[in-house]
Amino acid sequence: MKSLGIARHDEVGEVCPYSDPPFEELTDDHVFPEFLGGRRSIRVCRDCNSRFGHSFEGRAAKQLKRLQIFVSHFGLDLGRVPATWPSALVIDNATYDLKSGPTGTQYELARPLILRNEAGHIIGGRARSRAEAEQTAANMIKKGKAKEIQIEEVAGESLDGVKLSVDLSYNEDLYKFSAKVASNAAILMGFQEFVKESGIARYLHGSSGWGARIANCDTSSIRALRPQLSHAVYVEFGPQSYAIVILFGGLQVYVPLPAAERRAILGLLDPISGEESFNETAELSISPPPKYWTEAEARAHLEFTSQCLTKEAIARGATRPPDLSVPAIDLGAPVQRWVNGTHRLGEAKSDIERKA
Ligand SMILES: [Zn+2]
Repeated sequence: MKSLGIARHDEVGEVCPYSDPPFEELTDDHVFPEFLGGRRSIRVCRDCNSRFGHSFEGRAAKQLKRLQIFVSHFGLDLGRVPATWPSALVIDNATYDLKSGPTGTQYELARPLILRNEAGHIIGGRARSRAEAEQTAANMIKKGKAKEIQIEEVAGESLDGVKLSVDLSYNEDLYKFSAKVASNAAILMGFQEFVKESGIARYLHGSSGWGARIANCDTSSIRALRPQLSHAVYVEFGPQSYAIVILFGGLQVYVPLPAAERRAILGLLDPISGEESFNETAELSISPPPKYWTEAEARAHLEFTSQCLTKEAIARGATRPPDLSVPAIDLGAPVQRWVNGTHRLGEAKSDIERKA
């Protein structure tokens, strides 16, 4: 008889797809993360969940929340899952956080602002709420910095004349993030064994490369299956399995996977309606992206995805779509230089390629 307290009854038989036993308590790990509005989840041990959250996932989340605010700034309602971009703007010495909300992006003081005259004397201030204003005034008086001080309460304001720039760069965090969205989707659809045997856990835990890279290939067949602006994860199993993850229509990542029996799955998440679905689908047989490309090709691809983002936002009712341009190229790949006019994408060699 097993001793009590090793596993709760409902967790007997549950395993973590990303680590070996013994497992700590199993927790919910979302396929599309919660901050994007994802609700469907799989079971992952607490240790893996927290390690991912504190490494690539946390950093990718920061980048994606900025993109979310950027899209919301077009005048779209992404208030379903409000995102904050801390200390995003400095206007007249005041630092502002940006927040996505039902009426687009709002800016709000990041911290109370103390106003001084030319001689350095405190002449007033601003705070986000009545309580904060009173607290700030009391502190200033207590510290002897002012005898009397008027702190004004200012509400969040809509961002109209402010131009935001967005980070559409690719990096290893985004590649790992996409690889995990793909493997979580596969697990959700019953491909737990496939993921376990794929070795992707080692990549997510940082102990091997993988070969995930920018999906600079024709993804129009996936795009056509999704509501505009929606996040998508498409996984095709076959002699050359792969996944493609599309985020806001503006970022797309290709994740190579080991061979398996032919099947295909598609997961979609609409950031505006919040609708989420995972289904088996017909195979789309997308050609893999090339491993080398020229700077002109990279620029053309980034410009294409930026235009997709703009067009899709307009289709969803954006009232202030930006005119996006690609000023600098950051592919974030381990090889940072253009060699003989080409750029190597992804990690040097993946486990999959070595096996082949
Ligand atoms: Zn685990």
